[in-house]
Amino acid sequence: MIQPFIYQALPTRVIFGRGKQQAVKAGAERLGLKRPLVITGKQQSALGKALAAQNGWPHWDGAKMHTPVDVTDTALAVFKSEGADGVIALGGGSAIGLGKAIALRTDCAQLCLPTTFAGSEMTNILGETAAGTKTTKRDAKIQPETVIYDPDLVGTLPPLMAATSGMNAIAHAVEGLYAVDGNPIIALMAEEGIVALAAALPAGDTEKALYGAWLCGTVLGSVSMALHHKLCHVLGGTFNLPHSETHTVVLPQATAYNASAAPDAMLRIARALNAKSAAAGLFDLAKNLNAPTSLKELGMPEDGLDKAADMAVAAPYPNPKPLERAALRQLLQNAYDGRRPAE
Ligand code: NAD
Repeated sequence: MIQPFIYQALPTRVIFGRGKQQAVKAGAERLGLKRPLVITGKQQSALGKALAAQNGWPHWDGAKMHTPVDVTDTALAVFKSEGADGVIALGGGSAIGLGKAIALRTDCAQLCLPTTFAGSEMTNILGETAAGTKTTKRDAKIQPETVIYDPDLVGTLPPLMAATSGMNAIAHAVEGLYAVDGNPIIALMAEEGIVALAAALPAGDTEKALYGAWLCGTVLGSVSMALHHKLCHVLGGTFNLPHSETHTVVLPQATAYNASAAPDAMLRIARALNAKSAAAGLFDLAKNLNAPTSLKELGMPEDGLDKAADMAVAAPYPNPKPLERAALRQLLQNAYDGRRPAE
């Protein structure tokens, strides 16, 4: 039986392929941009500087994780003083987040060149941090107009970062398969995204991994996320845990929590992983990639688990399995200890 559904395709133009970073000038022109500001973090500074110099564009390299509002204010001042008319975000979720923050405030066009698998470039979501609190909003102005996926740009990711960033992408697909507003097209993309990443990450195949990341990012931008993303938001925002590593550790445990309430999604995830069970399969994939599997190794204080459980149940949101504090506290303990979920 086909459940009734709503499907809305994202307006972002996607260009995929090795060497396609060369299409950035034509892409900017297509958007009518004459003087876009190239945005990077410090690590991608040299790359951004070269791209900007080649085209006579300005460059700013101050992007930071979790999009702090004071960083955005500084970048916005540079944007204005340089007479910029758009942004070219080159980097992971942090550089892309800053580009989105500028676009939200100026309604300028954005072209993204992702260098990780996080998926932010395919969404109209922006998380911003002010006074230690991270808040998330959705707005059409936040959705990037053009994305150029060039596998050469992710080739420099250190193996551990590639592994955790890839698990971060898989998390979008997992939650997309049981999303309250899910639909058959997005489910196809989610399953294919997991298939691609599960094969590509152990093999170091950046092209296939980036293809999977695009699919998973599209899922994130199209349907609502649930418990897993909520937990990671709480752990990242309140305990300052690293983004992709936290996703990697929590994903198998959140999947185990929801398993009995989302049997069809679990079947599809397990099938995509070629594993007996979705949750254990995700744990094994992380382990095989030598990625972290416990919150303890990420520096989470054990006495913070109670607070995290309280925060996770504070504001209700749709999730396949009802949110029960005691069960969530156990989930967090399992994540802290790095326990392999039962098959
Ligand atoms: P990131 O952008 O902070 O990058 C992590 C580190 O890896 C940085 O030091 C960066 O310089 C380095 N790096 C990036 N690409 C590299 C490459 N190709 N080679 C070598 N080093 C590289 O991390 P991320 O995980 O991509 O993004 C995390 C941020 O994005 C968080 O703030 C998160 O909230 C946000 N995010 C937002 C959305 C959304 O839809 N709004 C989606 C996913 C992530």
